[in-house]
Amino acid sequence: MLDGLLRRIEDQRDALVDLTRELVAFPTVNPPGDAYKACARHLGNRLSHAGFEVAYVRAEGAIGDSDRYPRINLIARYEGRAPGPCVHFNGHIDVVEAGHGWTVDPFAGVVRDGRLYGRGSCDMKGGLAAAVIALESILAAGIRFDGALEISGTVDEESGGYAGVAHLAEQGWFSKPRVDHVIIPEPLAVDRICIGHRGVWWAEIETLGRVAHGSMPFLGECAIRHMGAFLNRIERHLLPRLATRQTAMPVVPPPARHSTLSVNGIHGGQAEDHGGLPSPVVADSCRMMIDRRFLIEEDLEEVKAELIAILDQLQRDRPGFKYRIRDVMQVLPTLTARDAPVVQAVAAAIRTVMSKRPELVCSPGTYDQKHIFRIGHLEDCIAYGPGILELAHQPDEYVAIDDLVTSAKVMAASALHLLGVEFH
Ligand SMILES: [Zn+2]
Repeated sequence: MLDGLLRRIEDQRDALVDLTRELVAFPTVNPPGDAYKACARHLGNRLSHAGFEVAYVRAEGAIGDSDRYPRINLIARYEGRAPGPCVHFNGHIDVVEAGHGWTVDPFAGVVRDGRLYGRGSCDMKGGLAAAVIALESILAAGIRFDGALEISGTVDEESGGYAGVAHLAEQGWFSKPRVDHVIIPEPLAVDRICIGHRGVWWAEIETLGRVAHGSMPFLGECAIRHMGAFLNRIERHLLPRLATRQTAMPVVPPPARHSTLSVNGIHGGQAEDHGGLPSPVVADSCRMMIDRRFLIEEDLEEVKAELIAILDQLQRDRPGFKYRIRDVMQVLPTLTARDAPVVQAVAAAIRTVMSKRPELVCSPGTYDQKHIFRIGHLEDCIAYGPGILELAHQPDEYVAIDDLVTSAKVMAASALHLLGVEFH
């Protein structure tokens, strides 16, 4: 029976490419969260046609939601012949901006040399399309099962998932008894299973100064120079220390097994787009956004204290140094047990479909697993999907068509394992 199903999926190769291209064509760029409704409807119409019961949930009042940019999530469910476990596939429909450096139209879904190019092809509309084809093929093959199959297309993952999976999880869509196992087709590669991710702390640090005429800077206090002093201490003292810390989690790529800190943005003084020439004013404010990724072995409060200690030390050593710090986002690390049912099922499916031993990995960044774990209290969750992680958010992002098809087969076999369907 499994062979027949896998052949059926192989025959769906063109349909899988078409669906991925259709999804890529919706410019669901976040921010601002464009074309969410159209994309969700497109998926919903298709799944309803395949026999799924479809619900649309708008995260009304959530951050980013407006009538112009409604945060619309889609959940589709297919009930088997009797009650039983529910296997859920969750994909985010939002993508990051295209950015510069593309050699093809980022929303045209160009197919070339066995690859499908486009923003979101890899992260993660290709994976979502593969899940749709996997489940449609199970139903089309007439395989009978107890339990339910679900698939969701959710919004805002790229900006934290608050109006997407977090909102649904708060309403019980990602908890037992409704759902038992979750697979998130993020692009972690077709032979790898992602069991968790590092933690995140975003904070905005502002150094404060005093305005004065730029020709007499000694009469003012330059916030940008104070920030420079802080950056210097980060370079000299903090980054080397972070590089010595290593997690036991199998994070990929391997340099991400260390604690890291990225300065994601900095701005000081007058706005750049003032129109004319700038005026000579000493900067009284400089703001910097830091992106600290921490390990499961680290404690978030200690992570914060370590950075604040550097700021406090500067306040003691450096005349005129004043600062403010504001938490922007924090996410604790998550790790699914290696012997969890979903890990075992996907591992068995990879062995069956690819005759390969799967590699268990963790993601350097965070993804929607955090909400399923912390809000939904559902621990049986992993990420598995086609695509090369390093291509996510890059120009000329693509997904290999062979990988799309292979991952659809693995997802279908995994779902059957988890539903307890015998296929020998
Ligand atoms: Zn993603």
